[in-house]
Amino acid sequence: MKHLEEYRDPELAGRLLKRIAATAALIDRPVTIMEVCGSHTQAIGRSGIRKLLPPAIRLISGPGCPVCVTAAADVDRALWLAGRQGAVFATFGDMLRVPGTGGENLQRLRAAGADVRVVASALDCVALAEAEQGREVVFMGIGFETTAPTVAAALRRARERKIANLSLFSVHKVVPPALRLLIDDPGVSIDGFLCPGHVSIMLGSAAYGFLPAAGKAAVITGFEPVDVLEGVLLLLEQLAEGRPAVEIQYRRAVRPEGNPRAMAVMGEVFAAGDAQWRGLGPIPASGLFLRREYEAFDAAKRFAIPEFAGQENPGCSCGVVLRGLIDPAECPLFRRVCTPANPIGPCMVSSEGSCAARYRYG
Ligand code: SF4
Repeated sequence: MKHLEEYRDPELAGRLLKRIAATAALIDRPVTIMEVCGSHTQAIGRSGIRKLLPPAIRLISGPGCPVCVTAAADVDRALWLAGRQGAVFATFGDMLRVPGTGGENLQRLRAAGADVRVVASALDCVALAEAEQGREVVFMGIGFETTAPTVAAALRRARERKIANLSLFSVHKVVPPALRLLIDDPGVSIDGFLCPGHVSIMLGSAAYGFLPAAGKAAVITGFEPVDVLEGVLLLLEQLAEGRPAVEIQYRRAVRPEGNPRAMAVMGEVFAAGDAQWRGLGPIPASGLFLRREYEAFDAAKRFAIPEFAGQENPGCSCGVVLRGLIDPAECPLFRRVCTPANPIGPCMVSSEGSCAARYRYG
C-alpha cells in the first residue's frame, strides 16, 4: 500500500493530468462525469481539480450527500418527533440546520427548549437510552450503506439488552437506485460516474453492474487528489476505448465483494422500501426501513406521526443541483442570500453539500 502522501504527490498528479488531456483529446467531444459522493465533492473542491481538467471534461456533483437528499417532509417528521413533550431526539450534527417546510430546523427547535442531542454514532443512542430511562429516545438515522450497518448493529445490541425506550426514525437510503434513476432521466446526460468510495467498501463493485450495461463508465474512486485524477483517467480510458465497465481505483479499501458481513447485518435489520429524495422525488426500493422483527424500535410505528406533504423553499435550487442540472453558482441565491452562515437549502448546510463546497473552494 502506498503511503498517504503519495496520493497527494504533485508530480504524480501532473503526470496523470497529462494523460487525462491526451485521453480527452482521443474522445474529441465534451464528457460529463458525475461524482456521486459528497466526500468526493469536497475533495474535488479542496484540491481545485475541476479547474485543472481539460475544458471538455465537466465534473458535476450528484446526490451523494445524505443530509442534502433528505426530503423536506422527513425533516418535518423529525421536527414533530423532536418537539413532543418530554422527548429526547438525537441525530448527527449535520442534520440540525437542514430546513424543513417553512425553513424550520432542529437547531431552532432546540433553542426553543426541545431536547435535541448530537451524537457521533447510533451506539451513543443505546447508551443515551440507558441513561435516560423513563424517557423516549428517538434516533434519526441518516446515511447510506456506509452508516446503515452500524445503526443495524446498534439496534441488535439494544434488542439484546432489552432496551424499551429507544426507537429509530430511519431516513437511511441506498445509492444504486438513485443512479438508476439518473441514467434513465432524459434531462440528465452523464457519460460516467466516479462511484462512492465509502459506500462501495460495503457494497462492492457488482452492485453497479447496471451502469456499464447502460453504456455508462464507472470507477469506484478514493478521496485523495491522485485518487480522483486516476479515477477520471480510468473513466476516460473506458470511454475512449468504448468499453464501459465498473473498475476499482480505490483498491486499498474496496473489494469486489464489498463487506458481506456488514451487509448481512444491515439486511437482518432493514428491508428496502420506496423513499422520497429531495430533488429526485420518490425512488422505488431506495430507502431502508426496519423489518418486522425490529418494529418495536420503529419510531414511525411507535408514534402517530402526522402526514406531512413537505414543501421545499421555492427559491432554493437544491433539487436541480442534486441532479447535476445546474452548477451551485447558477442558483440565484448562491452567495447573495444563501451562505453557510445562512443556509437556505440543505446543499449549503452540510460540508459535503455541493453548494457548501462551491462556496468554500470557489
Ligand atoms: S445556493 Fe442555497 S438556495 Fe441555492 S441551491 Fe444551494 S442551498 Fe439551495
